[in-house]
Amino acid sequence: MHELAIAQSLLDIVLEEAQRHGVGKVTRVGVKVGAFCSVVPDSLSFCFDLIKEGTVAAQAALVVLPVPLAGQCPDCGQRVELPDPFAACPVCGGLRVGLDQGQELLVDFIESDDSESE
Ligand SMILES: [Zn+2]
Repeated sequence: MHELAIAQSLLDIVLEEAQRHGVGKVTRVGVKVGAFCSVVPDSLSFCFDLIKEGTVAAQAALVVLPVPLAGQCPDCGQRVELPDPFAACPVCGGLRVGLDQGQELLVDFIESDDSESE
């Protein structure tokens, strides 16, 4: 299961960061997910919820930030978004759009709440 492996590596990053900064409780985790990764956000959240139990991120809400496929078209000079990596430029029909986003899968932000003591 694709999303479970991804959720696990995201959680690893979050826990590592939390430890490095001495965070006791993570409240929100933002994740940038490129369209090219074919990750289902609901499924990713579900997996994250399953594995976060018992960690400092147990209360953390996963916020998925979708990143569309996009890049620069050398033929018309426009910056365009594509529905898939092999699509033609929607402006001029050129096939040489150089994609530079939409393939990322990374932790964008980690929010913690250390004011609350338990
Ligand atoms: Zn174009």
